[in-house]
Amino acid sequence: MTRVILNEFPDNGYQAVTEEQRHFAISAVTHLEEMVNNPEYFKQLASTKLKNIKLLIDPVNWKYQEATNDDFHRIIRAGIEVRRPEDMHVPDDNDINIYAALEKRDEGSLGGVTPGKRTIVTNIEKFNEWLEDDNWILLAGHWFHEWLHTSGLYHLNPDVADFKDGVYVAANLLVDVEAQRQISLGEKESSGIVDKVKAFYDAYGIPEQYR
Ligand SMILES: [Zn+2]
Repeated sequence: MTRVILNEFPDNGYQAVTEEQRHFAISAVTHLEEMVNNPEYFKQLASTKLKNIKLLIDPVNWKYQEATNDDFHRIIRAGIEVRRPEDMHVPDDNDINIYAALEKRDEGSLGGVTPGKRTIVTNIEKFNEWLEDDNWILLAGHWFHEWLHTSGLYHLNPDVADFKDGVYVAANLLVDVEAQRQISLGEKESSGIVDKVKAFYDAYGIPEQYR
């Protein structure tokens, strides 16, 4: 089993994280753990060709190579993050480690990860909107997409969104498989899940044809 750990969820100095925000963050991470341990996800991931992604293999000299399906499988299963030079002494674990922060961003900006950094920044206004809707699947999907970046998996072209690239496809598939699972659990439990998934796709600006 792969654990998902919320290692850090700090306030950023101008606004403390509230109990409600922390509770929502923990709920998203708990769901994310279930999602990444669903064998159906890996089954579907294995039959999807993941392309146009580069994998950071040397964070000291910034060397990349083309990433394969096996890289995704290995990285997600073992919760592998890029080991920064200063972390080399820390033993590897089997956990997906989420270091998250909420920040004020331009309207429309979701947040993201600075290459080489482990902190996932999320636009505080978006986060609060998702909290309001209890849209845990969106937060889980967002953190998973960004976590893939902290694992060294990058879009080939960071300036132009390629919705067919492996990072988009792997994260969107995780959300889709979970939505199907929620729906299969029954109408009551799945209420609103289709709208929540739509909000995830909207948040990443993904056009209809790639949904
Ligand atoms: Zn991305």
